[in-house]
Amino acid sequence: MAKRNILKMGDPLLRKKSKVVENYDEKLHQLIDDMIETLHAVGGLGLAAPQVGVLKRVCIVEYDDKLYELVNPVLKKSSGKCVDNEGCLSVVGFRGLVERPEKIDVEYFDRNGKKCKQHAEGYFARVFLHEMDHLDGILFADKMVKKIIDDD
Ligand code: ZN
Repeated sequence: MAKRNILKMGDPLLRKKSKVVENYDEKLHQLIDDMIETLHAVGGLGLAAPQVGVLKRVCIVEYDDKLYELVNPVLKKSSGKCVDNEGCLSVVGFRGLVERPEKIDVEYFDRNGKKCKQHAEGYFARVFLHEMDHLDGILFADKMVKKIIDDD
């Protein structure tokens, strides 16, 4: 495994639409393993492949000590609205308040191509949606209703 470099806002790769994964092969497993190592090294709730410069529809979420590996995730259903504080490993110096759905249902594939479903609510749902936005070149900064400048 290898830790990868995280791209920062301003890098054009973060603005591209990622491609659907076709092959659930060793290369995909390596990418996911590297993303996990990178996330654990820097700390955070999630990481998307474009953040490490790979334009594939892959993201990982770590929430309540459980790790989710999402390949080709699709939002199937959403309801409600809530505003909360978000940051991003690719955005330095500020966080923001972002409005997102309160409850979601997501379908995705695991690293071996097995179809999975996940219901999520509240901040857990927010992390999924934030990471999935990265796959379409969207950053929280595009959506925030209020910018919060970091103190440090
Ligand atoms: Zn992010």
